[in-house]
Amino acid sequence: MAKKVEKYEFQSEAKQVLELMIHSVYSNPDIFVRELISNASDAIDKLRIEGLSNQELSGLADNGRIDITVNKDQNTLTISDNGIGMTREDLVSYLGTIARSGTKEFMEALQKAKSASNSDLIGQFGIGFYSSFIAADRVVVETRKAGTDETSIWESKGDGTYTIGPGNLDSNGTTITMYLKKDKKKDEEHVAKDYLSTWVIQGIIKQYSDFVTYPIYLKDASKKDEKKKENKEDKKEEPVNSMKALWTRPESEVTEDEYKEFYRHITHDWEDPLERITYKAEGTTEFKALLYIPSRPPMDLFFQNGKHGIQLYIRRVFIMNDCKELIPEYLRFIRGVVDSEDLSLNVSREILQQDRCTAVIKNSLTNKILDVLKKMKQDKPNEYKKFWQIFGVVLKEGIISDIKNRERIMKLCLLDSSKGGQTTLEDYVSNMVKGQRKIYYINGGTTEQLTKSPKLETFKKRDIEVLLLGDTVDEIWINNAGKFGEYDFVSISAENIDLPDSAKKEENKEKEKLEKSGFIKKIKESVSDLIEDVKISTRLVDSPACFVQKGEPISPQMRNFFKSMGQDIPEEKRILELNPNHPLVQQAAVEAEKDDANMKDWGEIFIALASIADGEPVTNGKTFTELLSKMIKN
Ligand code: ADP
Repeated sequence: MAKKVEKYEFQSEAKQVLELMIHSVYSNPDIFVRELISNASDAIDKLRIEGLSNQELSGLADNGRIDITVNKDQNTLTISDNGIGMTREDLVSYLGTIARSGTKEFMEALQKAKSASNSDLIGQFGIGFYSSFIAADRVVVETRKAGTDETSIWESKGDGTYTIGPGNLDSNGTTITMYLKKDKKKDEEHVAKDYLSTWVIQGIIKQYSDFVTYPIYLKDASKKDEKKKENKEDKKEEPVNSMKALWTRPESEVTEDEYKEFYRHITHDWEDPLERITYKAEGTTEFKALLYIPSRPPMDLFFQNGKHGIQLYIRRVFIMNDCKELIPEYLRFIRGVVDSEDLSLNVSREILQQDRCTAVIKNSLTNKILDVLKKMKQDKPNEYKKFWQIFGVVLKEGIISDIKNRERIMKLCLLDSSKGGQTTLEDYVSNMVKGQRKIYYINGGTTEQLTKSPKLETFKKRDIEVLLLGDTVDEIWINNAGKFGEYDFVSISAENIDLPDSAKKEENKEKEKLEKSGFIKKIKESVSDLIEDVKISTRLVDSPACFVQKGEPISPQMRNFFKSMGQDIPEEKRILELNPNHPLVQQAAVEAEKDDANMKDWGEIFIALASIADGEPVTNGKTFTELLSKMIKN
């Protein structure tokens, strides 16, 4: 049994953060109170969640409360909660290391801002439990995990080590005692305010934590104030915070700062959100939602079991985090709270999945969010661009999975254009040339690579816009959707592309000449082991050769993706297209009329040139260089 006091070292990153907490000058030192209250409130939330599946803990969180005590005699500020608590192992892994998602970025930002004041950085990041060392030079954490009878005491002076020993709490929860920095002269700037004053603490709670859903009680335990206390003794204990959930208050009464604080509270994100969404549904299904679009992507955005950001409340009682059931997968970046009037308090995930109410909420939220995005796109294009850059690739998944809203989501897409910058599908359609009935796109590479594709040449010449689709998901949604409005999507890498009628006629003199010459047949025979077919191109203007795909075009990226998923897809059948107007092709054709000796060389050269143009490696680089040198010499 680990009953004795043991000494541990902080993990090295934690050490650095602690050093900083202790030695920096803060523009806003108050944040440590907010951070600790937020942890306390999370701990009670966790207990509630545990109670749903563990009979023994059921109901324990019903009387969740947070107690803050100042003691002038001991120079301490104490924050207690009756939440989930921690075991000895928890203490080591949670308080001895830094596991917060943003720590790496935090440390990086810190490195960059080395000489500047670190204070604002810490204010922005809010570095959780460690911020207690802003105001304290010794911190003691006494804690007992719910469902166990073991209490542990964690203690540190923030000097690189901490100890853990036995303690004796009567019940589950955590009490954090901060021994406030005393040496005012030396540390004057460190602690700007008197954190032993109940007025000061009350002010901080009101400012940062008013919405916390558990009552926060504040007490002065100083003997010095004994008299004052006695007078107050018969007064009923009143929480300092209003506990009024932000989403229940009229929007006009809530300040933007309060909304931002709440965002911080639920996400632990240090950056302000990009957009806030409030929603109130009345009628047969009643619920309120307060949602946010973050301004940076969560780490797990593309993890298979990544978290969703919706917290479910039922009639103001917190029920669960990560409520996947209430929001479609492609909106998983949304953070916030949904408070239902109709669901039963002991709802489980299984029940939630089947409840009619869930479907109604999910539908309404989806509608609302898509509406907000549409408005944002119209009214705040710069912010929308930022949004799109971060979350566009996720939103596009909705075109595949949410058929009902497919058209709406397609209209929200910002897509790279061969004409530079980004366009929307609606703008694309309104910019079509006369007679154009298709939406042309190219994919299978980064936008940068696609911009240089020779397949764009004829389109550029004819002033037809082509969408440059650089995300892997693009290929999937475009094949899924097939069309936008009445217009089919057409890959310009496909074997037969349907150009607007007016474009077809003009170009065929050289083509006819080549067709008659038998040259194409010769080239085809010479490299038949490497490609499916050789054709005369109508899409090339300046380049000699390119590859096009037979049948459904599948990009090399997609091929790799399917292969990695273990899926069998038919071998690629590529067609080599040659530009009849290009001098190299013409030279080869002239040679072909004399004899066939060099045909294989020419074939290989064209294949290599097409590979290069597609941004692919040349399979036989050495032969290619030799051949090319030989040709140039001739
Ligand atoms: P964060 O809260 O962002 O995870 P912190 O450094 O504030 O980071 O806390 C680290 C971890 O310590 C928390 O995730 C939680 O598991 C645990 N913890 C902190 N405070 C408490 C508390 N009052 N009760 C229970 N666990 C806590």
